[in-house]
Amino acid sequence: MPQKEKVIILGSGPAGLTAAIYTARANLTPLVFEGFQSGGMPGGQLMTTGVVENFPGFSKGIDGQALMAEMRQQAINLGARLIMEDITSVLIDKRPFTLVSMSNQEFETDSLIVATGATARRLPLDSEKKLWTKGISACAVCDGALPIFRDKELAVIGGGDAAVEEATHLTQFGSKVYLIHRRDQLRASHIMQQRALEHPKIEILWNKVVEEFLGNEMLTGLRLKDTKSGEESELKVAGAFEAIGHTPNTSFLSGQLDTTDTGYIITHADSTETSVEGVFAAGDVQDSKYRQAISAAGSGCMAAIECERWLITAGK
Ligand code: NDP
Repeated sequence: MPQKEKVIILGSGPAGLTAAIYTARANLTPLVFEGFQSGGMPGGQLMTTGVVENFPGFSKGIDGQALMAEMRQQAINLGARLIMEDITSVLIDKRPFTLVSMSNQEFETDSLIVATGATARRLPLDSEKKLWTKGISACAVCDGALPIFRDKELAVIGGGDAAVEEATHLTQFGSKVYLIHRRDQLRASHIMQQRALEHPKIEILWNKVVEEFLGNEMLTGLRLKDTKSGEESELKVAGAFEAIGHTPNTSFLSGQLDTTDTGYIITHADSTETSVEGVFAAGDVQDSKYRQAISAAGSGCMAAIECERWLITAGK
C-alpha cells in the first residue's frame, strides 16, 4: 500500500519551505519533496545567487545558500519530513491524489502544494557556466546592488519586459547599462520600450548575440556577434544579467492544472488555489511578475494556511 499523507509539498525554495514551516506548525507533518535534479537544485534559485541583500531580517545580507539552509533546518525542527527526490508524475483527477517519485515509490495525499519554481533560461555557453555568479546573474533585483557592480558598465541580455525592467533597475548602480538584443525590435511592451529608449544611461545594442563571456576569475567583458553582418566585437562590462525568460517547472503535471500560455499555474485571485480543489500553488511556478524570494515565501505561507483550512472544511 502506498504511504498516505495529509499534505505533500513539492519544492524546497522559499515558497516550498515556508509552506513546510507553516503546515508543520499546524501539526500536519508535511512531506516535502525537495527535488533532486529536475528544475534546478534543491533549495531553488537562491542556491546559485551570491549575497541576498533584500530578504528582510538580515541587515548585513545573507548568502543565498545559508538562507536556504536556515529555512530547511527550521522546517525540519518544526516537524517537516524532507525527501531529496523528484516527483516524476502525479494523478490528481481522483482522490486521494497519487504521486510517483523518481525511485518509483508511490505516495497518496489529501492535499498538494506545488512550489516547484521556475528555471531562469541561461545561454548555453561554457564560458557562461564558468563565470556564473562571478559577474553573471539572472536577477538584477537580487544581485544588482552588489558592490562589484557599483559604478561599472553593465549589460543585460534580452529584449522582453524583464530585460528592460532589469536594465532600468541597474541604472541605479551601474555607470551605464547596455541592453543586448538579438533582433532590431524589442519584444517588451510599448511603455517599457519607451523607458529603455529614453533612458540616458541605457544604450541598446541591436542585432547582437553573446558568443562568449570573457574573464578568468571574474567577468570582464563579452564577445558579441552581429546577427546581420556576422561581425564580432568585444564589450567591456563588469556584470552581465541574462533576462531571456523563465520556464516554470510544471512538466511533471502533464497538463492536469490550468496554466497560462507560458506554463505558469493559474491561481484564483488573491489566493493560491488552483483549478483542482485541494491543490495549491506557491512561488515562481505561479508568479511571472515578482519572482522574489520574499514574495515566494509569502505565497508559501498563503498556500499553507489555505491548505490547512481546506483540509478542515473537507473533513480530512
Ligand atoms: P520574454 O519571453 O517576454 O522575453 C524574452 C526575451 O529574451 C526576448 O526578447 C527574446 O528574444 C530573448 N531571448 C530568448 N532566448 C534568447 C537567447 N537564447 N538569446 C538571446 N535572446 C534570447 O520573457 P520576459 O522574462 O521578459 O517576460 C516574461 C513574461 O513576464 C512576459 O509576459 C512579460 O510581459 C512579463 N513581465 C512583465 C513585467 C512587467 O509588467 N513589469 C516585468 C517582467 C516580465 P526575441 O524577442 O527575439 O524572442
